[in-house]
Amino acid sequence: MSGGRRVLVVGGGVAGLCTAYYLAKRGAEVTVVESNRVGSGASAGNGGWLCPAQAGPLPEPGLTLMGMRALLNRDSALYLNPSKLRNLAPWLLRFWSYCNPRAYRHGLTSMARLGGRVFELVEGMVDDGVEFDLYRQGMLIASHDPVALRAELAKLRPMEEFGYELPADLVSDEELWELEPALSDNVHAGFLINQHWHVRPESFNRGIAAAARALGVEVLEGAEVVDFQASGPRVRSIRTAAGDLEGDKVVVAAGSWTPALLAQLGVDVPVQAGKGYSFMVSPSVVPRHAVLLADVHVGCTPFGDQMRIGGTMEFSGVNLHLDRHRIDQTIAGARASFREWMRPEVESEWAGMRPIAPDGLPVLDRAAPYENLYVATGYSMQGMTLGPPAGDAIAEFITTGRRPSVLEPFTLDRFSRFPRPRRRYERDGS
Ligand SMILES: Cc1cc2nc3c(=O)[nH]c(=O)nc-3n(C[C@H](O)[C@H](O)[C@H](O)COP(=O)(O)OP(=O)(O)OC[C@H]3O[C@@H](n4cnc5c(N)ncnc54)[C@H](O)[C@@H]3O)c2cc1C
Repeated sequence: MSGGRRVLVVGGGVAGLCTAYYLAKRGAEVTVVESNRVGSGASAGNGGWLCPAQAGPLPEPGLTLMGMRALLNRDSALYLNPSKLRNLAPWLLRFWSYCNPRAYRHGLTSMARLGGRVFELVEGMVDDGVEFDLYRQGMLIASHDPVALRAELAKLRPMEEFGYELPADLVSDEELWELEPALSDNVHAGFLINQHWHVRPESFNRGIAAAARALGVEVLEGAEVVDFQASGPRVRSIRTAAGDLEGDKVVVAAGSWTPALLAQLGVDVPVQAGKGYSFMVSPSVVPRHAVLLADVHVGCTPFGDQMRIGGTMEFSGVNLHLDRHRIDQTIAGARASFREWMRPEVESEWAGMRPIAPDGLPVLDRAAPYENLYVATGYSMQGMTLGPPAGDAIAEFITTGRRPSVLEPFTLDRFSRFPRPRRRYERDGS
């Protein structure tokens, strides 16, 4: 292994855990340093979809600056909190600059290439004895509006180039309700992506952490990283609540907290938190598939006799505040689309922050000017899907010193053509 074997991984979400797991498989001596419990951030209460065909990045073509004003409406699925606008403005301008067909196509292609290995790698984990709940049940994309849904299917067509199989057309009404009996008759059209699977995220994090420990990875929980010591182009050690730690290499995979951490080293990672909510319900008819309700932007995932429902993308800084109005909206959108639930109330309300770069793509790179510092974040809406392939690729980069070609689109210096914004980094709560 080039440049020393000891690697410190900051952050124990799916990004950090998968990186640690694949580093250990390549012979590195790894310590994961997590401020809370592993898998307690965005990687906990999400939908768990392994859905690489959904590779379209968040900035979509055609979003005008005027159109972005509509996102200040609290009812919008993609929502910008007006009180945070001043802080968000430099990032939003960058985001808007990627809302064009060329950037979208580049993002889609890059994500499709990276995500394509997820099934092979998850199968590999199963073969290695990693224990987690895996459901090979396919994913149904459904809507009350067949015209809008046909446009969604057309948007996914380029994915066929990358080996993803899509149906020729939608199924409607009786045929749809037969395919997915959990849906109510408000939902009129759908199409099934059979290749997609889902995991129970909590079990996935737990399983990978246990497998990493079995490979010799040390996992420190309750050990917030507060500072770094560097000399010249090398990070020498990190200061944590549990003491100082030295490593030959450091990977920061701290999700939405990454920018504030790396700002201490003068490294700008333009990632914002895209908050989403989820909760559990007990449906009277459990869906046979994971279901994306495309018209209301709500994702529903069956786990045994329960279903997790999640949605919204809210830019309101680094905070885990549960906005009642937005949760109620998500509940209403889902309730109308399914048969009655056994109990009307919802359980386990949760918020998580997706780390989102302005082009919607991950940041998987060495963090110049440091020669032994790496960053693995920005997995956006795809962290469970990208966790294994991104972790494997960055582990290869770190251990061999050669960047795998699949990581070329995810360099940090792709943002350097923008003037560096003067901004305050939020650690939490502000
Ligand atoms: C509602 C919702 C639904 C989603 N559904 C899906 C889905 O179906 N499929 C999919 O692929 N993706 C989904 N996602 C996206 C996915 O959850 C994220 O992309 C992914 O969890 C990000 O993982 P991460 O490891 O980068 O961040 P996190 O999971 O947030 O992990 C970062 C970790 O770093 C730790 N940390 C922070 N600061 C420090 C510090 N100073 N010192 C030490 N540790 C620190 C935190 O405690 C945290 O554990 C969803 C997200 C949401 C919100």
